[in-house]
Amino acid sequence: MYCDTTAGSELSRFYEIRSETVIKNLQRRNMDGYFVSTQQDALGLVLTLIPPDAVVGRGDSVTLNRIGVIPELLKRNENKIINPVQANAEGHHPPREERQKLQREALLSDVFLTGTNAVTLDGRLVNIDGAGNRVAAMIFGPKKVIVIAGGNKIVTDVDEALHKIHNVVSPVNSLRHYMKHKQVEAIERPCIKLGKCVDCFHEWRVCRNTVIIDGCQPPEKGRISVILVGEELGI
Ligand code: SF4
Repeated sequence: MYCDTTAGSELSRFYEIRSETVIKNLQRRNMDGYFVSTQQDALGLVLTLIPPDAVVGRGDSVTLNRIGVIPELLKRNENKIINPVQANAEGHHPPREERQKLQREALLSDVFLTGTNAVTLDGRLVNIDGAGNRVAAMIFGPKKVIVIAGGNKIVTDVDEALHKIHNVVSPVNSLRHYMKHKQVEAIERPCIKLGKCVDCFHEWRVCRNTVIIDGCQPPEKGRISVILVGEELGI
């Protein structure tokens, strides 16, 4: 039936059109790319890409949480999972020391699961981390990296990516860490009070490691797989 109260199907088609360009350019950079229409399809695909017995690490990612891949892996019970951001009932992540131990272990996992802050139309992955464990694992360590990204993560170029990450993604993520994971220091960042990034010198500045992945070396061809989803996911 005709309905003009939302633009969900138009957005989904737009994400698909943009994904076709991204995937071609990922391949030119020795990375693999996939497009799936829904988060359920993304979950099905990612499970097929993770071999039984592979040790699976993960980065912090709202997209991964939304897709529900960790609970599904636990259910299938074929993989060891290293989850440094396993929240308890109150939303607290493991204490810093324990979290860092798991983050280090995840650097040597067989498969590392992560979202991305942005992916450009020309196939670059753009991310900014605080501690850097997520971007470190994306660059080197795990044998395989699987990135899951909603169509809303596709941006025109690196400049747009960095502008969006600093002015929207980082402050919203800080609010998430404060409101959901009780990290009191996160609420102090200037971008939250001002509603924009001021390239701060704050002690708890979260933007410490800016990484642009331009692809993989030939011997590592296909090490990074990017699953693009025709829905809005993550921040
Ligand atoms: S540099 Fe500072 S103000 Fe800018 S987004 Fe990062 S934490 Fe916020």
